[in-house]
Amino acid sequence: MTPGIVFDIKEFAVHDGPGIRTTVFLKGCPLSCVWCHSPEGKDPAPQMMHTPRGDRIAGKAYTPEALAVYLNNQVSILNANEGGVTFSGGEPLMQAAFIHSTLDLLEPVHRLLDTSGFAERHVFGDLVRRFDMVYFDLKLMDPQAHRTHTGVSNAPILNNLQILSQSGVPFVIRVPLIPTITDTDENQRAIADHVYSLPGLLRVDLLPYNQLAGAKYPMLGMVYALHDLEKHPVNLRPDLFLSKGIQVLCH
Ligand code: SF4
Repeated sequence: MTPGIVFDIKEFAVHDGPGIRTTVFLKGCPLSCVWCHSPEGKDPAPQMMHTPRGDRIAGKAYTPEALAVYLNNQVSILNANEGGVTFSGGEPLMQAAFIHSTLDLLEPVHRLLDTSGFAERHVFGDLVRRFDMVYFDLKLMDPQAHRTHTGVSNAPILNNLQILSQSGVPFVIRVPLIPTITDTDENQRAIADHVYSLPGLLRVDLLPYNQLAGAKYPMLGMVYALHDLEKHPVNLRPDLFLSKGIQVLCH
């Protein structure tokens, strides 16, 4: 089969799910979020990065067998630390066939999918059922605002969230709080209203804007559009979620 393209593998990760984890970052994303802090994850193909430490290629091809061998070498330590393996991106659903093949070869270990939820419904449904937990991003509830700031409709994402909530797989909603864009009271309230009654919801994570988000753009010859927001305070409203009975984690 076609190899997967991976742009990073992070070991001993503590923010990508329960316990200590190894996180695989898969290249390619159909969204174009203006705040994206992993621009090297957008293009599905390997690309050159001109970093202060020298040039390097972002994106390495793995066969499912090679990635499974790499991960299986760590399974005993991940299990001993109540952790597991996380597939992230980019958008991992763009390489769903590669993930299926890798999962087929993976030894028993907790598996988490970190996704924007943007994919065809059969691709999404078939893959999430193979995971023990899902981290699901919700960015903007207003359809036009979502299209403006991410380049795509939020309709497939909201449809896939329904599929996830009916799948029996527990999930966490992750909300990136981008000043004046996603962190408005209106948007946070709309997300709380949408998710509070969904079966399987564990909690909502509020993720304040990464002020270093623009750092990698020049290394790729890309332009970051949100430098003006780097000093802007974030509107953090956990109360809007707590008042709906939702457990909230502020990062
Ligand atoms: S979904 Fe994530 S990886 Fe894709 S463009 Fe948005 S922030 Fe970047």
